[in-house]
Amino acid sequence: MTSDTQYIEVAVALPVYRTFTYFVPEPFRGFLAPGKRVLAPFGRRRVTGYVFGQSPRPEDKELKPILDVLDDRPLFPPAMVPFFKWIADYYKYPIGEVIKNALPGGLNVYDYALLTITEKGSTALRHGQPPPVAQKVLAPLAAGPCRLNSLIKKIDQKIPGTLLYQLEQSGWITRKWKLGGASTKARLERFVRLADSDLPLDHLSKPRQKILEILQTEKEMAVKVLKETVPTAAALIKPLESAGYLTIENKRVYRDPFGESIKPDTPPQLNAEQHQAVSRACDYLDKGYHPFLLNGVTGSGKTEVYMQVAAAALEKGRFVLVLVPEIALITQMERRFRARFGECVSVLHSGLSVGERYDQWTRILQGDATVAVGARSAIFAPFDNLGLIIVDEEHDSSYKQEGQLRYNARDLAVVRAKQNACLVILGSATPSMQTYYNVTTKKFTELTLTQRVEQRDLPEIRIVDLRLSRDARGIRRFIAPELQAAIKETLERGEQVLLFLNRRGYASFPVCGACGQPMRCKHCDISLTLHQRSNAYRCHYCGYSRAATSSCDICGSTKIKHLGLGTEKLEDLLTPLFSQARIARMDRDTTTRKGSILKLLKGLKDKTIDILVGTQMVAKGHDYPNITLVGIICADLSLSFPDFRAGERTFQLLAQVAGRAGRGDRSGRVFLQTYNPEHFCISAARNQDFKAFYQQELSFRQALGYPPFSRMIQLKISGKDPHKTEKHAQILGDHCRALKASHLPHYRSVEIMGPIEASLTRIAGRYRWQILLKGSDTGALHQFINQLTAHSHTAFTHRRVQVAIDVDPVFLM
Ligand code: ADP
Ligand code: ZN
Ligand code: ZN
Repeated sequence: MTSDTQYIEVAVALPVYRTFTYFVPEPFRGFLAPGKRVLAPFGRRRVTGYVFGQSPRPEDKELKPILDVLDDRPLFPPAMVPFFKWIADYYKYPIGEVIKNALPGGLNVYDYALLTITEKGSTALRHGQPPPVAQKVLAPLAAGPCRLNSLIKKIDQKIPGTLLYQLEQSGWITRKWKLGGASTKARLERFVRLADSDLPLDHLSKPRQKILEILQTEKEMAVKVLKETVPTAAALIKPLESAGYLTIENKRVYRDPFGESIKPDTPPQLNAEQHQAVSRACDYLDKGYHPFLLNGVTGSGKTEVYMQVAAAALEKGRFVLVLVPEIALITQMERRFRARFGECVSVLHSGLSVGERYDQWTRILQGDATVAVGARSAIFAPFDNLGLIIVDEEHDSSYKQEGQLRYNARDLAVVRAKQNACLVILGSATPSMQTYYNVTTKKFTELTLTQRVEQRDLPEIRIVDLRLSRDARGIRRFIAPELQAAIKETLERGEQVLLFLNRRGYASFPVCGACGQPMRCKHCDISLTLHQRSNAYRCHYCGYSRAATSSCDICGSTKIKHLGLGTEKLEDLLTPLFSQARIARMDRDTTTRKGSILKLLKGLKDKTIDILVGTQMVAKGHDYPNITLVGIICADLSLSFPDFRAGERTFQLLAQVAGRAGRGDRSGRVFLQTYNPEHFCISAARNQDFKAFYQQELSFRQALGYPPFSRMIQLKISGKDPHKTEKHAQILGDHCRALKASHLPHYRSVEIMGPIEASLTRIAGRYRWQILLKGSDTGALHQFINQLTAHSHTAFTHRRVQVAIDVDPVFLM
């Protein structure tokens, strides 16, 4: 955009799908850039809009002028404009709302500019070089940096943006954007370094001499560290500084997420497979778009491959984005990247405060951070020159956002890489069907790591048939004797045990002992779970809870049987069996408070936990070398879900949990308890045989025409009134069929399934219906939905019944 740009393309923050062209009045020209916000008239309203770029001169009509420019500097780089457009188009979401979703919350509220005069500016001012208007602005700055607002008050005069721009261009001032109010303070620590090594030492006291001796070998040292050798150091450094021996400086330090300072590391010697993977990926750096699958067994050192390719990208002056499926794993990835790359690493996730997130965003935008590690939403990190995007544990369904903008960050990573002409590496030990299919169809290049690092063995996995596991009285046992014995042995050796059960709470299936009726949620069509620790029955879908003393709704009996095993009950069962062991539990209930996940992980690391019981939170990517035994309490829980991906998820989960065992010097063992020992998901997981699983699953998908052989779009219809909702679903279904019938043969490949009632018929008081659109021709499928939303516009904007469009749905129930 140039200073004479007259027409701009703007995405307004309203639920509309296209962008608009506005006229730029003279005074605003030269201040506009893609990524800045403007105030613009829209109908009779004034709305915020995001500038996308220059527009060609429109043919006929008089265009409305923008009213104001709201930002001094862009909120996102121009490279992201096509990305936002792609998302809006593909996920059928209003473009302005896409951007709103992408930007960190609170971005707009507080930012202010801090102006600082430079050396050059001070000199120029002293010599009276700047023109009078400029001098008026520079003069107050000589006393120190000043906020723009206070400066305006001081000189009692408006400062035109053009003037600030000129001052900046002349190198007389610098502008920094800060966050007002809840700002985040950098952590500062005092460091000392030797100033003059030729000064005589002999007349100094012993401790002072000691300090200087240390500094002679260590270039620089934190006072905190110095105090470990010379306890009185804090008091001694000041006089030493005055005497010219050393200098003291406050420096920003980084702590690891555990609060310990991070020691820089050096890259290890890669093994042959890692080396091969790194060099093959690096061959494509700077050669445009290239997608890879890094298919490496658990513990094969994928992170090391990521880091070395990242180093190569950084060396070429390009930036690196690393996605991890959840916050607990960011911690681990962040620590390793910080140790390798230091201060240029930023983190982005929902656990950060608004201020922290803003800071991180700004660091990326200004090029201070060249690497970003983050969860799903970090796919929107405002890099303008990406060289590499990494998606770790790419199979993980947490990359899919449910609700609002329903995107999949894994898929968007590939799109962004294509648009930025850069590399993308999807990594996993259990690749998704979709990704591996892309390998077999030559869309992706596969890099493989078949061995664990340092020739460590994959854990030995034993299947335990739960059908046979009963005690003497014939009562089912949740922990089979062989697993119990193995836990005992492991604890005796001082090693750690991980027990996995994908169900939290105490009892997941409370049933009336008198009439047999399950305890159900008032708002959802689902069983309540008893949470004994909090003395309540809870619904896991809407949060509804009732007292643990409640009686049966049907017959009033208070004799409730607590069937169904949850992590709480498991913990209780273990306590008497292993009374010496320190047992901890990691699930959503124990990790609601900020920092609680970190505390648990630290417990594992510091070996203050002997047995960790947990849900799928423990399954993902963690690397704790002292865990040598993993027990999978019931492998079948996710197998029976009414979802075509149930098998894929079960296989991934089991293989991942198993992969937590034996990552250190000692080999690991896994006990997999199941009621379906013959099921191919279970046996493939047992053999850690991804290819076997893939082949079988693929033929099942092909037979039924499921992804990856087709794409899906789900219409999620929900409302408070069961009849209205059902009727609306039927009407929408009729629209779909009519549209297809009127455009044959073009839409022949589009299959319309439903409307049907969802498997979870009611959540949080809303009745749920679904229509599934499926097609082998992606283009036709998308055209179909575009045409449907345009033709049946009112069906999508009904007051009482909501219709959400879920493109490439993951949660189908
Ligand atoms: P993955 O993500 O593939 O499960 P990680 O990247 O967590 O595996 O690596 C497992 C462990 O092996 C880590 O502790 C890592 O530091 C270590 N490691 C990785 N590569 C090497 C190597 N070439 N030599 C020695 N240790 C390595
Ligand atoms: Zn009853
Ligand atoms: Zn509920």
